[in-house]
Amino acid sequence: MTHQTTCCYCGVGCGIVVKQEQNGRLTIEGDKSHPSNRGMLCSKGMNLHYTVMDQSDRLLYPQMRLNRSMPLQRVGWDAALERTAAVFKTFIQKYGPDSVAFYVSGQCLTEEYYLVNKLIKGFIGSNNIDTNSRLCMSSAVVGYKLSLGEDSVPVCYDDIEEADVFLVQGANPAWCHPILWRRIEAHKAANPHVKIICVDPRKTDTARSSDLHLPIRPGTDIVLNNAIGRVLIENGDIDIDFITNHADGFAAYRDQVMQRTIEEAADLCGISSEGIRQAADWIGRSKGFLSLWTMGLNQSVIGVNKNLSLINLHLITGRIGKPGNGPFSLTGQPNAMGGRETGGLANILPAHRDVMNAAHRAEVEAFWKSPVKIAPKPGLTATEMFEALADDKLKAIWIINTNPLVSMPDVNAAELALKKARFVVVQDVSNRADTVGFADVVLPAAAWLEKDGTMTNAERRIAYLPKVIDAPGEALPDSEILWRFAQKMGFGKSFNYANCSEVYDEYTQLTAGTNVDVTGVSYELLKKYRTIQWPFSEKNAPKSPKGDLDAAKPDAEVPFRGFRGETGTKRLFTDHRFYTANGRAQIHAVPDENASEPTDEDFPLVLTTGRIRDQWHTMTKTGRVAKLNQHSPQPFLQIHPNDAKARGIQEGQLVEVRGRRGEVRVKAQLTEDVRAGLCFLPMHWGKMLKSNLNRANNLTNALVDPRSKEPDFKFSAVEVVPYRKP
Ligand code: SF4
Repeated sequence: MTHQTTCCYCGVGCGIVVKQEQNGRLTIEGDKSHPSNRGMLCSKGMNLHYTVMDQSDRLLYPQMRLNRSMPLQRVGWDAALERTAAVFKTFIQKYGPDSVAFYVSGQCLTEEYYLVNKLIKGFIGSNNIDTNSRLCMSSAVVGYKLSLGEDSVPVCYDDIEEADVFLVQGANPAWCHPILWRRIEAHKAANPHVKIICVDPRKTDTARSSDLHLPIRPGTDIVLNNAIGRVLIENGDIDIDFITNHADGFAAYRDQVMQRTIEEAADLCGISSEGIRQAADWIGRSKGFLSLWTMGLNQSVIGVNKNLSLINLHLITGRIGKPGNGPFSLTGQPNAMGGRETGGLANILPAHRDVMNAAHRAEVEAFWKSPVKIAPKPGLTATEMFEALADDKLKAIWIINTNPLVSMPDVNAAELALKKARFVVVQDVSNRADTVGFADVVLPAAAWLEKDGTMTNAERRIAYLPKVIDAPGEALPDSEILWRFAQKMGFGKSFNYANCSEVYDEYTQLTAGTNVDVTGVSYELLKKYRTIQWPFSEKNAPKSPKGDLDAAKPDAEVPFRGFRGETGTKRLFTDHRFYTANGRAQIHAVPDENASEPTDEDFPLVLTTGRIRDQWHTMTKTGRVAKLNQHSPQPFLQIHPNDAKARGIQEGQLVEVRGRRGEVRVKAQLTEDVRAGLCFLPMHWGKMLKSNLNRANNLTNALVDPRSKEPDFKFSAVEVVPYRKP
């Protein structure tokens, strides 16, 4: 038997063919018919089946305990969900609906996201649902919204082959989005005039393969982008027609970027002014200018402004809405995009509606036939939830498929908060999640290939993931756990689903008439045509699900390609009408000062955290694959040789990294790949090595961007000393 599905690791969303042999063994290969990866897979994707076949640490049945000094005991599903419902009802009655919360994951499927949002926002009456996507792309969401009118990625992967200048800023796609990077490399190999500019304080593999590496000081991205903007203006490389007819805010922007000379900017960034002028020259002369970014811009206390400063370069040059042009936020997680579509953040509702908008709330309440009013203010965001647990303002938290005791900033504080929480439910696949030890109720969830549903990748491409094998033990699909729980809460009539297809159909109806309209998408069409890029409204789809999609009529506004692999809307804003109130893009003049944690005599170095090639998130999946662990078996600290010498640190020596909130002990790796004054720790390790002293987030701080609420993972003040046994 062969099955076509989608990789569940990163937002590239590669197509995978899973072969199931008669003895039950699974093999995996890249899906050659999939438009995103065209048959390619990276090391993580190629080894994905090992995570499914290794059942050694799976959670197999529900467990609970009456207090945390007791061991977890096996119970039935009814007992676990009835107790959880009873505790939730008690808290809601006593302290109000905001006393409970769900903290979910960009790994959740669209249907799961939809259900948990419907449950808490429409039936419990709280907006306390947030996701670990808050930790990786919420600054990009706000950046898109402020500049383009909505959280809408305007481009698609096929723009790679149309572009001739790539600006990769705060991202290392060579390791973290490898298949996209291979497409860029192949395009450059075939077209030697193509230029790649990499902006990163570290010399990553992406930087090594670029034509121009700008190793800026951490926190100076806006200084750089504004300086590039200034050169573009001075060189006359801006699109006056686009600015006049389709954008607001240029005059204020020009005044802002003219405040610093290029030499001043270069000095602040710690790079040469020639580098800035070269980057601007290539961008100004490009026919296709694609910018790609991830955590280096997003995970910052000024993350939204960093995003705006980059998007501005597209708006002043009119490089948007045309093949090969546009600002492309690369999502880290496989379904971060799908989660946002269904309203999976504390401040939004399905189809990118806003909880602060009374008309939006009324539409959703009417559709759901909600017994309560949707709360008119945003709920607690990821970091706020843990702060509220610590203050006993939040009483109960339900954590689904994410591992905050490794991934949250200032993780020692998060751990303390979870200890203090009155009631913790952990719904996960394996007991590798560090949260299991803090749970009052543990619910075993089905893993990839063990459940069906949909995901949306970084280019708005929706895919159906089939169920291929049965889940072990009593594990259930996350959707089923949620609708069974809703029934125990007394909301049975509104959560009476027979399967995920019914959930998806309900969600698509709620998107009608919005910019995320997917009323034309159904499981039947996704099974037949593999993927569809939103928006894809009912008018684009054949009348009958049994009809032939190829026969559907093209639509002028929503370009429709009726052949396999190119279905739906490839690009947005091709008519240069944006989703803002006046239809014009907004250029924002943004200040360039950083607001991160200051360094001082005690903590003079800047720590930045990030990922390594063969691990994913907190290693709950990739850490189970021997082949992947070989690439980098242990955590390490990269430090510049000059900084190491000043501290008497040798290559491979055990060092203690000290910060204002905690410490980490790892081996030092001396390398000029990091700037002097900067050091780098991978973020993956948690209790994997039986010690919390490997957790990079012992050192990070809880500062967040004021608008996106995304934490500042890329800039913490630390000192490094040789470790000496006490
Ligand atoms: Fe999976 Fe991402 Fe690798 Fe593709 S690039 S195989 S989606 S991890």
